[in-house]
Amino acid sequence: MMSYKNLGLSNTKKMFENAMAGEYAVPAYNFNNMEQIQAIITACVESQSPVILQVSKGARSYANETLLKFMGQGAIEMMKEMAKQKGLKEIPIALHLDHGDSFETCKACIDSGFSSVMIDGSHFPYEENIALTKKVVDYAHEFNVTVEGELGVLAGVEDDVVAEESTYTKPEEVVDFVSRTGVDSLAISIGTSHGANKFTPEQCTKNEDGVFVPPPLKFKILEAIEEQLPGFPIVLHGSSSVPLEAVKIINENGGAIKDAVGLPETELKNATKSAVCKVNIDSDGRLWMTATLRKVFAESPSEFDPRKYLGPARSALIEMYKHKNKNVLGSSNRV
Ligand SMILES: [Zn+2]
Repeated sequence: MMSYKNLGLSNTKKMFENAMAGEYAVPAYNFNNMEQIQAIITACVESQSPVILQVSKGARSYANETLLKFMGQGAIEMMKEMAKQKGLKEIPIALHLDHGDSFETCKACIDSGFSSVMIDGSHFPYEENIALTKKVVDYAHEFNVTVEGELGVLAGVEDDVVAEESTYTKPEEVVDFVSRTGVDSLAISIGTSHGANKFTPEQCTKNEDGVFVPPPLKFKILEAIEEQLPGFPIVLHGSSSVPLEAVKIINENGGAIKDAVGLPETELKNATKSAVCKVNIDSDGRLWMTATLRKVFAESPSEFDPRKYLGPARSALIEMYKHKNKNVLGSSNRV
């Protein structure tokens, strides 16, 4: 049993209290490899933003769960050193399990030093979701680890799990769910979606440039949830904006990403003014990394030193994370 506190990590409690009071959202960025974690830490130290490092089940099997845990620990040490060198403040970092699918996975993460876990029982019937979530909360809270639950189903692809249709969160269920499970935050479904194809062309309208415009988020549902749970931290998954610029670079350099549609950053920005305290962004990082790699390979076909293509990809990620912190989530200069 390794407590996250000994690793220098933070749970999400204070982070969300500050985010609620300051009307911004804490970024939750996924990582699977070294360049991603370096970019997240660099960007968040330089923009002085708290950050939630997220690891999905897929990431744990891809990168090896032991290695990932130590990468999380390494991130803390890197952050401290970097803050000192640049004369900046240290930033709070949470290490969070994204979409935990069972009590066992959550327990393994808690036992190995994660400071926060998500248990996603949203695809189960309501009472089963409550029972599973409560079991995780009871265990996690013994160690002050914070727990995120989910009500409502997001459409899209998350790791290998595909949900064809979304089911919006029912505001009339949230008080019962939160009080019976004891969760610390709640992921809701109000029209965001996982992956780079968040909406089908049929669901969208087109603007004068022929660009797809997705249907607006269901802010009415968010408001109704806030009325039911005043001051309670809400989480938005599937919140990448899927930048056309990155998709264009990919497709101009041999890629084939069709009908990609994301969530406009302006809508996300509006959501952070509310009880939304955590915003999950994964696809945008994947797209910028891919765009940069394709460009480097197209322009320098003889290049075979991984540092020469992963390095530029890492730089692109740093820029993107800083942009999100500063211009979308409002989490810059909040430490
Ligand atoms: Zn998600």
